Amino acid sequence: MTTNTASWPERYAASLMNTFGPPKLILTRGEGAHVWDENGKEYVDLLGGIAVNALGHAHPALVESVSQQMSTLGHVSNFFASQPQIELAEKLLELVGAAGKVFFSNSGSEANEAAFKLTRRTGRTHVVVAEEAFHGRTMGALALTSKEAYRAPFEPLPGNVTFVPYGDADALASAVTDETAAVLLEPLQGEAGVNAPPEGYLAAAREIASRRGALLWFDEIQTGIARTGAWFAYTESGVTPDLITLAKGLGGGIPIGATIALGAAGDLLEPGNHGTTFGGNPVATAAALTVLDVIEKEELLERATTVGRRLREGLAIDPRVTEVRGRGLLIGLDLAANASPAVAAAALEQGFIINNPTPNRIRLAPPLVLSDVDVDAFLAAWPAILDKAGLP
Ligand SMILES: *Cc1c(COP(=O)(O)O)cnc(C)c1O
Repeated sequence: MTTNTASWPERYAASLMNTFGPPKLILTRGEGAHVWDENGKEYVDLLGGIAVNALGHAHPALVESVSQQMSTLGHVSNFFASQPQIELAEKLLELVGAAGKVFFSNSGSEANEAAFKLTRRTGRTHVVVAEEAFHGRTMGALALTSKEAYRAPFEPLPGNVTFVPYGDADALASAVTDETAAVLLEPLQGEAGVNAPPEGYLAAAREIASRRGALLWFDEIQTGIARTGAWFAYTESGVTPDLITLAKGLGGGIPIGATIALGAAGDLLEPGNHGTTFGGNPVATAAALTVLDVIEKEELLERATTVGRRLREGLAIDPRVTEVRGRGLLIGLDLAANASPAVAAAALEQGFIINNPTPNRIRLAPPLVLSDVDVDAFLAAWPAILDKAGLP
């Protein structure tokens, strides 16, 4: 056997496509909201795999259910069904509180891809989407994402998409016509840096879509599954959409996506219209059932709200934070200067994983199980992190 003398980052660079740039760390282990790197250094994970690790790392209930399901029945193909798949669909519809149908896939992009195809079955093709929105990287999901840098290298993308400024109900009303198949919105824009729409915007979107016979589609891939202190971020608006897409937090780290279509929209996709080999796999659906169960048992909806409030209030005390955004444990911080990469780097050095989605914004999306001790530690370190990043 030969021993590899290259470092892990060197081996990464030599063997993985350079789609993400060099990794910030090579991680080896996690427990709760903590992770350890290859050198044994410990970090508080305030990003949670980008809003994925809802139960933190290595939650015993998730480990148990995935292991148990894998040792019972791991995969069957969609010629067959499994009980966890059916139970998860029922449970999601129960949480939404409306009749409908679910399609399972393996990622956010795939959940959106299925929804996008579903909207074509209305007989219309036009989709209205918000600027700055992020809906994923497959060709279909990318067609619904406005960011020029992501789109340009891959054009032409599937067409008939109109982008409108997020939060502007008048612009939405002008863009949606009797030819519009769907209006797609994030109830709270995640990748854009945690943008909340003005009061009444989602209700206006519902009214506009209904008036034109278009489907209202909420992308809850980042905001869903307790992240904002509610099962879905849209519930606060009192609006019921026709389509909901989920992924990230749903599997607690096991890849899963879900496309939920309510009412008649649930019957738009017919046999042969869409498919997947892995989607709805027993292990992934068992994992998601456990995530939902633990959120209820450990009262993590409430915890997301109270811990989120404490973090926001504590971080805002420093005057170099000019605005605090978001709800629950999806938090955006506006900085007084374009220094978010330096702030994220300084935090990492101090043992805290945070994220910089835009040049002047920090995003936090920690595990919902984040402890008070970790919150205190981060709040105590925050001023020094900003100092270190050179913020005046
Ligand atoms: C992450 C994300 C996606 C894409 O999910 P992937 O699993 O990366 O394909 C789509 N929409 C939103 C709002 C997201 O945050």
